[in-house]
Amino acid sequence: MAIDGAAPCGGLEDVKFRVRGVNVYYGDKKAVDNVSLDIPTEFVTAFIGPSGCGKSTFLRTLNRMNDTIPGARVEGRIELDGEDIYSSSMDVVQLRARVGMVFQKPNPFPKSIYENVAYGPRIHGLARDKTALDEIVERSLQRAGLWEEAKDRLNESGTALSGGQQQRLCIARAIAVDPEVILMDEPASALDPIATARIEELIHELRGRYAIVIVTHNMQQAARVSQRTAFFHLGELVEYGETSDIFTRPQVPRTQDYITGRYG
Ligand code: ADP
Repeated sequence: MAIDGAAPCGGLEDVKFRVRGVNVYYGDKKAVDNVSLDIPTEFVTAFIGPSGCGKSTFLRTLNRMNDTIPGARVEGRIELDGEDIYSSSMDVVQLRARVGMVFQKPNPFPKSIYENVAYGPRIHGLARDKTALDEIVERSLQRAGLWEEAKDRLNESGTALSGGQQQRLCIARAIAVDPEVILMDEPASALDPIATARIEELIHELRGRYAIVIVTHNMQQAARVSQRTAFFHLGELVEYGETSDIFTRPQVPRTQDYITGRYG
């Protein structure tokens, strides 16, 4: 489906994020240009496009991570379950718990595996006692596919794990505060093929429980893990629709050129 202003996500479904007319600037430079789309609750949505086209910048608008970047400015409207996330009454700490994020480079805290997962629930007051906290830690590590490998070494440093394990620890950390959405910015690009496959499997397992949005420069990965794909180019959302349609019958020549490798 080509984009014409407001863009539903292919015959919708439950909408998690409703995005309308979003621009992002770094100083005078416009990095995201008038993007409108709906992100569904029950699917994995992939953002693809050549390096520098604004995928990560746009992803960061969804939990206001751009607020932390000096000079970044966001215009337009983004609603999470109908609520304007840029309104002055929005609690940004709460928003980032509801909309968790996993980065390209695994970034566990230099603390134990247990503490990495327990930190969020503790500061958000999600566990009434140690037993409840232990349960959250175990459940989060299980959902992130790390429990079997980590259960006998919970007191070891998170940074002692392998890269793939560290990334699953970061996913467990996001899960621990019971998010509605998990944003993943190139989550496997620093990992070897086996660790990458494990992350992709995990995305399948988590789908349905959380809305997942993944930025990837790897088109095969987008085709494997997502049900909706948005193609960005030069800061614009060029085309958005069902992943199978975007990869097999794109409607816009620019999408066709990209997926057939003519640029990017
Ligand atoms: P992508 O994720 O598609 O590779 P980005 O969102 O990282 O694209 O970047 C989009 C544009 O914004 C690029 O031109 C990039 O150089 C610029 N940009 C990204 N982050 C910053 C920043 N912190 N400060 C200034 N410009 C930035």
